[in-house]
This record gives sequence, C-alpha cells and structure tokens, in this order.
Amino acid sequence: MKKVDFLVIGSGIAGLSFALKAAKHGSVCIVTKSNEDESNTKYAQGGVAVVVDKSDSFDKHIQDTLIAGDGLCDQDIVEIVVKEGPERIREIIDYGTNFDKTRSGTFDLAKEGGHSEHRVLHYKDITGFEIERALLEQIHKHPNIEILTHYFAVDLITQHHLGGVVDKKSTDITCYGVYALNTNTNKVEKILSKITLMASGGAGHIYSNTTNPVIATGDGIAMVYRAKGKVRNMEFIQFHPTALYHPGEYPSFLISEAVRGAGGVLKNRKGEEFMELYDERKSLAPRDIVARAIDAEMKKSGDDFVYLDIRHVAKEELLRHFPNIYAKCLSIGVDMSKDMIPVVPAAHYMCGGILVDEFGKSSIRRLYACGECSSTGLHGANRLASNSLLEALVFAERSYQSAVSYFESVNFQLDIPEWNDTNTVKSNEDILVTHNIREMQRLMSDYVGIVRSDFRLERAKRRLELLHNETESFYKSTKLSMKLCELRNLIQVSFLVIKGAIMRKESRGLHYTTDYPEKEINNIHDTTF
Ligand code: FAD
Repeated sequence: MKKVDFLVIGSGIAGLSFALKAAKHGSVCIVTKSNEDESNTKYAQGGVAVVVDKSDSFDKHIQDTLIAGDGLCDQDIVEIVVKEGPERIREIIDYGTNFDKTRSGTFDLAKEGGHSEHRVLHYKDITGFEIERALLEQIHKHPNIEILTHYFAVDLITQHHLGGVVDKKSTDITCYGVYALNTNTNKVEKILSKITLMASGGAGHIYSNTTNPVIATGDGIAMVYRAKGKVRNMEFIQFHPTALYHPGEYPSFLISEAVRGAGGVLKNRKGEEFMELYDERKSLAPRDIVARAIDAEMKKSGDDFVYLDIRHVAKEELLRHFPNIYAKCLSIGVDMSKDMIPVVPAAHYMCGGILVDEFGKSSIRRLYACGECSSTGLHGANRLASNSLLEALVFAERSYQSAVSYFESVNFQLDIPEWNDTNTVKSNEDILVTHNIREMQRLMSDYVGIVRSDFRLERAKRRLELLHNETESFYKSTKLSMKLCELRNLIQVSFLVIKGAIMRKESRGLHYTTDYPEKEINNIHDTTF
C-alpha cells in the first residue's frame, strides 16, 4: 500500500502542472496508464490562446469565448481563465517551453476560427509536444514526485469501499485514493492519498473516428460517476472538421485549424468551394458550423471526404509553419503545396465532464478535477479553439492553491480493504472486448454524431444497453484487464453523452438535433447528473 499527500491521475498538461506545484509542499505520486508523455496534450498542434499582444484585450478574448459557448459559459469562469492566462503562460515559459517568435522578437501569434484577434501562441505545429516535454523535464528533476507509468486507475476509493451506502444525492462522499492496476504485474494496488487530482483527459474513443490518442477513453469521468460524483453537459462533443482522411489509420491525424487560419479553403470533390452556402465566415467559421457543413456536403455527394486546399501558399511558408503536417501528408502521397488534402470530421474534444467549482473542486470531498475531464464552465456548449490548454494551466494552479491550504489537516483512511477479485478467472476471450469496443464506437458514430435525432438517440441507447449488460457480467467474472476496464468506461461515458443529448430538447452549440433545430431562448440550462 502506498500513501501520498497528492495523488495525480494522468500525465498531460493538467496533471503535470498541478504535480510540479504541489510537490513544493508534500509527496506527489502520478499514475498514468501508458508511457509518461502519452496524452492528448502531446498531440496538440495549434497552440494556446492567450492575451499577450497590445492590440488584443481581455474583453475581446472573453467575448469570443462567450460567443463560441453559445449561452452556456459561466461568465465568471471565462473571466478568470482569460485574465489569469498570461501569468500561467509566463510560468511554463520559465519551465523551458518554447513558443515561436517573429523576426522582431515578439510572439508569432496565430489566428484561429472564432477568434477576433491573433492570439494563439504556438511552437511550429507541435505546441503540445513542446509543452509536455518542458513539463516532464521539470518533473524529472523534482525529488518529491514519483511517476508510476503503466498504472491504470480503476476506481476511486470512497466510503463505498468501507461498506457505507453512498447514493447519488449524498453530499458527503470522500475520496481516500484509488485502486490502480499495475499493468506490468497485473495486480491491483491500493494508493491512499490526502488529495486526489483527476486529470485523465477526454473520451474521443467513444467514436470510431477521432483525433485523440488511444488513452482517451473517458476513464476519469466514468470513475467519478460510478463514485456518485456529478458530471455535466456531456452531450457537447466537439468534432474537429478537418482530420486527415486516410482509411485504416486509427486514430486520425489532425489537420490543425491553423491551416485554415493560414488561408486553407474547403472544397468538394469537384474542387468547388461550398462554405459560403453555410456561413458568411466561410472556411473560418467556428468548428461546429464547419463540421456540420462538411457532414451535409458528404451526405449530399455520397463522398467520404472533402478537400482542404492550401496550394496557393508558398511551399517554404508551409514548411516553416506546418512541418509536421506537411511530412504526415507527404507520407501518404499528398504534397500539400501541390495537392488538395482530403479531410473528414472526427471526434476531438469533450466540452462536458466532471463538475467542478472555481477551484477545481469536484462534488466529492478531497477530489479535484482539471483539464479535459472536467467541466469548469469555460467552454459552455462549444469550446473556442486553443482554449483548453489554457484552461488546464489556470485550473491546475487554482486546484493547487485550494488543495495545499488544507491537506496537512487531512488524515489517511487506513482501513481500506484490498481489491477483491475472488471468484474471477482469467479470460481467454479478450477478443470479445475488442469486438464490443468496435460495436460501441460504430453505434455512437452512426447515431450520436454531428447531427442527432430522438429516434437515433433512443436506438443508440437500446443497443448500448445490450453491450453494457454483456460487459458488466464479463467484468464481474473475469480478472481485470486494462482493455476491459476501458470498455466499461467507454460505455459509461457513451451513456452519459446519450442521456445529456436526450435531455436537451434544443439545438445549441455542438448539440444539433433535427427534432429541435432551434435554440431555447428562455430556457438556458446545463444538463447535470
Ligand atoms: P491529457 O493530455 O489527455 O492527459 C490525460 C492523461 O491521463 C494521460 O497521461 C493518460 O494516459 C492518463 N490517463 C487517462 N486515464 C487514465 C487511467 N485510468 N489511469 C491512469 N492514467 C490515465 N487544445 C488546445 O488548447 N490547443 C490545441 O492546439 C489543441 N490541439 C489538439 C490537437 C489534437 C490532435 C488533440 C487530440 C487535442 C488538441 N487539443 C488542443 C486539446 C488538448 O490537447 C487537450 O484538451 C488537453 O491536452 C488535455 O489535457 P489533459 O491534461 O486534461 O489530458
């Protein structure tokens, strides 16, 4: 049994930046289910939106975020994130993160869809990789931080594990730590903590087409929901309009919004522009509008993709700004300076998640949540491009400030039982888990995608119930494996997405349903459960 002051689940931007701060005050253990750098963070391309230029202002960034959020943002949270952003950026620069500069030495700021100003700090087209690198370098130097890689957090430990009855209405649930599967030994270990931070990222893999790496299976959200914590606004899934179309590649490679920002234009297979039919901002309209437009064009034409055309930009410029994207396209025979890039929408970002307050506190005592797994109120019904890395940095700081103010007065809960796997056997049919994951992803893509309807949602729910029942009985009778736990979590998160989507009788932000195509002006509400 391990005991730590601060337990962090996840080693992306949220977990690492919290860990670095908390380690100044006590012991920190980071558990992460894959290699230490494997995370959505590592693949972020476009950058971090932040007000650093004189021509920009907090007000403009706040307004852009509120407009994207389509009436559901928490304005206080938007103000907090935007105004505290510059200080957090200075911090990661001090940690050694590089951002591109112009020849005159100022930041080279990009402009992305929905932003009224150039305000996106970036490092080439591998910003997330650079941030993750710098954070890990600091983490390695810190004597108070231990990273357990290939440890999969299975369940939060709460009163439930002491034999207490915990119901959803209870306001008195406490997190004492986590059961984690050491995937090297296949043993479940108990890690007790005074404070736990959930920083487990998103859930792109509820869909068959996603830009997220394979770690993004919604584990943290499912764990918190199982522990009777609150989650919010799960129906708002952002589909990125332009993932590279390359059948057989999984996950999909992202063609950053910055390519459209640099002049890339969407065209159909005949080479005709179509975005003016959908929005006056054309290819630079917000992501949800562009994704729906592409979806509609593909349905109309029966094609599997549309094109992104940036051939009019000089090759040297493309290589300077998008070396990674250029190389990736070339590897599949597309020279973006000469050829149009085939693209298709893919699940990209989860706007809802674990409900937290302005200090990252969840509805469960001693449990904080930060980054993509959390719902702070910043994104509302739709995330403004490049706001998520910023949100993770700001909320890591706020969670840290709150947690260190009382962790010393907290005692470990020592009487936690060991993980009980009596009456379970090792499965010799793991392939069934893979089949169920594929089936679940297919049904979510077919019925709970960019355009929804009550009929489709009910259909998805019925099919998911069958997968749920099969998976639960498999879970109860077999020894744990990471894949099985992930399947369970993916199904749980899919249910929450469907539940939120069924509850929302309107179209708003990222949630579009043909049954209720209008926004409910007089009934602005979150879906919380
Ligand atoms: P992550 O970085 O995803 O980290 C989650 C961590 O939790 C991982 O280490 C994972 O292994 C671990 N984990 C998960 N489950 C468990 C478990 N059960 N047990 C143990 N460990 C677990 N945002 C922007 O602001 N700007 C961009 O330009 C941008 N571009 C993007 C491009 C791509 C291709 C993608 C996929 C996302 C992009 N985003 C961007 C979104 C942004 O990268 C993410 O929202 C952000 O990085 C999330 O950080 P995080 O720390 O919350 O989670």
